Amino acid sequence: MPKNKRNTSSEIYDSFIVGAGISGLAAAIKLKQSGYEHFKIIEKANRVGGTWRENTYPGCGCDVPSSLYSYSFAPSSEWSHLFAKQPEILHYLETVSRDFDIEPMIEFNTSLDEARWDEQKKYWVLDTNNGRHFAKSVIFATGPITEPSIPKLPDLENFKGEMFHSAQWNHDYDLSDKRVAVIGTGASAIQFVPQIQPKVKTLYVFQRTAPWVLPKPDLPLNNISKKAIAHFPQIQKNWRNTVAHILNGVNFGLRNPKALKPVNVLAKQLLKLQIKDRTLRKNVTPNFDIGCKRILFANNYYPALQAPNTTLIPHGFVGVEGNTVIAANGERHDVDVIIWGTGFEVSHPPIGQRVFNEKGERLSDLWKDSSPEAYLGTAIDKVPNAFLMLGPNVLVYDSFIRLAEAQTDYIVDALTKMKRESISKMVIRPDVLAAHNKRVQRNLKTTVFNSGGCSSYYLDQNGRNFAAWPWSLSELQRRLNAVDLNEYQVNYAAKQNKSKAA
Ligand SMILES: Cc1cc2nc3c(=O)[nH]c(=O)nc-3n(C[C@H](O)[C@H](O)[C@H](O)COP(=O)(O)OP(=O)(O)OC[C@H]3O[C@@H](n4cnc5c(N)ncnc54)[C@H](O)[C@@H]3O)c2cc1C
Repeated sequence: MPKNKRNTSSEIYDSFIVGAGISGLAAAIKLKQSGYEHFKIIEKANRVGGTWRENTYPGCGCDVPSSLYSYSFAPSSEWSHLFAKQPEILHYLETVSRDFDIEPMIEFNTSLDEARWDEQKKYWVLDTNNGRHFAKSVIFATGPITEPSIPKLPDLENFKGEMFHSAQWNHDYDLSDKRVAVIGTGASAIQFVPQIQPKVKTLYVFQRTAPWVLPKPDLPLNNISKKAIAHFPQIQKNWRNTVAHILNGVNFGLRNPKALKPVNVLAKQLLKLQIKDRTLRKNVTPNFDIGCKRILFANNYYPALQAPNTTLIPHGFVGVEGNTVIAANGERHDVDVIIWGTGFEVSHPPIGQRVFNEKGERLSDLWKDSSPEAYLGTAIDKVPNAFLMLGPNVLVYDSFIRLAEAQTDYIVDALTKMKRESISKMVIRPDVLAAHNKRVQRNLKTTVFNSGGCSSYYLDQNGRNFAAWPWSLSELQRRLNAVDLNEYQVNYAAKQNKSKAA
């Protein structure tokens, strides 16, 4: 166990939340609302927001309408568009954390270094850069999409120009009149490419796999609309329900790819309308079924690709030589800056490096050869009294905020039961975990994620789908509605040594 650090306090919190993004805030608010007060939140940065604090690239915004990409308990009438942009989502999260009085509970600039379970004392020992804490339970809300992924290519460090990832945008670097290489055509790239294209001199967009990009049904919301929404909250509620129903239909299609065949045909027809040049159209036509990778929405991406200063390079990026970027087909271009739109490393959540299970094993060591597993994306093998937010196999094509809220209901129920029934330790039963994950994997086989002919970030290095939930969101919400203690090995404080498999 690491040495005690400064600021050590002997207080034992009932619970501890690590991270103040949408998940950590949802957990804190719902815990507070349920009367559960004795918990602490730490956040490594100096403000809340997570993803929406970190990603500031031009054009960054959500691709799910804001009526749904917002908490069910905190609707907003302030959105500037049907799909909000990053600064206003960040502002929304800050407002919510203030309105619900969560901000004062957060210790900012405090990063969890190590979390270890003390079996004798039945609590977590949490070492941070600001000292040691103790808590009977922990919620890891440290984010599923946080680690920029940059290909490890030889000679990259010898590149003479500027280089940055979309999640670490260098706002001090003026792109005006620069020769720019964008590597990747995923969710972030299709948002920033149209923003930078008008100001740069030349733009080379390296595309390894063409994504499906559908028109974005976005609209600005003027003051009259905002006032109407503020005065008649039912408008927003109806819109939220409508979007939820539409996404439910999309999810049905993702689980039953045959139902998506007409959408594939329609999307190809749309491409014909949007792109006149046959070669470009051929190059941006995806070679996998729609939905296999996350469907992207944009109205300005294809126009930006057709601008005279843009060249689409439908080949992977293989390396640099001086200031020259090189594509897999040997094509070479001199550029001033490389912008990585290569997404995130998601199959190995970084929190695994900091958490040790009850046997003292570091989770990232256990996850080295395969991606993590959890029960309902939340409870990890041999990790007692701990809950992971947005963990493996809970991804439904919907708003992540709704997923986080569903998990929060489960966690609040677990913590309430722990307190009420004097549970000192609960850990997911290995047989329950194994049976659940077997069913998940079996049911994923026929979904478009596994059968749609793409290699997406849902699949780990072994081709195992660690991300998606194979059923509907309502099924996920139903399963996460309450904790079934029969699925856990439970110890009670009064009879600490008698392990009760309830
Ligand atoms: C660019 C981008 C766009 C997206 N768009 C959408 C969208 O349109 N719709 C959608 O549904 N989802 C979208 N997502 C998914 C998005 O990740 C989630 O919606 C959401 O932000 C996840 O929230 P979170 O709180 O779980 O994690 P995060 O937002 O990542 O927050 C985690 C927090 O934990 C903190 N933290 C991490 N490690 C530690 C530590 N060791 N100690 C202390 N604190 C720590 C971090 O600083 C951070 O504040 C998008 C993601 C990205 C990256």
